[in-house]
Amino acid sequence: MNKHYDHWLECEGDFEIVGIEQEEDFCWVLTSDSIFYVEGGGMAKDTGTINGIEVEDIRFKDGYYAHKIHGSVSGIAHMKVDVDQRIEKVQIHSASHLICGYINKKYHARTIAFFTHEDSSGCEMEFEEFNEDIMHEIEKTCNQYVLSDLPIQIVYPTLEEARQHAPEEKLEHDELRAAVIGDIDYNMCGCIHVPSLRYLQSIKLLSYEKTTRGYKIYFICGEQLLRTLGKQQTILEQCAKDLGTPQNDIYLGITRLRQEIKDLKAIETEWKNKVVAQKIKEFAAKEEVCLSECIEDLDVKTFQMLCSTLVREHEKAVFFVCHDADRCHVMIARHASLPFKANELFKEIAVKFSLRGGGNPAVAQGGGSYQPEILEELAKLADSMNHII
Ligand SMILES: [Zn+2]
Repeated sequence: MNKHYDHWLECEGDFEIVGIEQEEDFCWVLTSDSIFYVEGGGMAKDTGTINGIEVEDIRFKDGYYAHKIHGSVSGIAHMKVDVDQRIEKVQIHSASHLICGYINKKYHARTIAFFTHEDSSGCEMEFEEFNEDIMHEIEKTCNQYVLSDLPIQIVYPTLEEARQHAPEEKLEHDELRAAVIGDIDYNMCGCIHVPSLRYLQSIKLLSYEKTTRGYKIYFICGEQLLRTLGKQQTILEQCAKDLGTPQNDIYLGITRLRQEIKDLKAIETEWKNKVVAQKIKEFAAKEEVCLSECIEDLDVKTFQMLCSTLVREHEKAVFFVCHDADRCHVMIARHASLPFKANELFKEIAVKFSLRGGGNPAVAQGGGSYQPEILEELAKLADSMNHII
């Protein structure tokens, strides 16, 4: 059992190198002992350096600690673990002990799993029912425990001692180690823990969600809480600045903005309708029956409305393309009295210019990449139809 793991802030030390295993472009530095935590028990491996060279992985191999580095070292390994990552993950892990231990004891809900994300952490608990009130009660009580600064003791019990607190399946190890928080938690665990609860600083329970096995409860504590709060504060400040409101009025600002968008959309629709009506008037006044045109200033939806209204209300046919940046939408549509089949003509264009879409004898349409030649082809088709009609 690695006794260095009993001291959460032991993050620097010299260790004798007992071997180097050279691989292709990296090597494993072997030591009998290490301050680097090897991933396990739900806790991630430590990051840090050996003689200033980054340790990329750490494993326990054949009785030795093996540290993966790109570079060469010999003699003494000066190990330095990144303190910030150590503090944050140990706080999260220790908070899980407290929260889960308290839930086990008070609500008799068993622990199913732990998880850690970038901005929050959590545990899945075997609750049948869960709600806001329970969540607040857990948060309040756990923070009271933090204030009372109960120690987290690391003990090495005999099998007989451990049996009084832990289930048999957790005792199948050569050496037993447990983390004990007063009468709240006694857990067989090989991870690193804070020495007492005040080092968790503060715990905030964020939310919960039902799972097939129980409930996931999301929480945040200590350095992760401060870091995430800082990040959220920056986002809120930016939002408040952009909205031109104090932070507490951001929601009001968003509501106002949504109303403004709604009002503007109504005005936009009114103008679009006017533009479409004007264009229809102009197209209807043209001599030819079959018209071709490239529309540059309308969105596809309004373009479709223009085409369908024009051919419904007037004895006209459209061979139109709506152009938007590098995309286009082609529509061939005709008045009910006209004889040709729009879908067959559209197919010719679609094949030639790799357009998607289709339709029926009265209207056919589809989109694809814009090419100026599309309008030329549409104009030819319109001309030939004008001759037939
Ligand atoms: Zn633990």
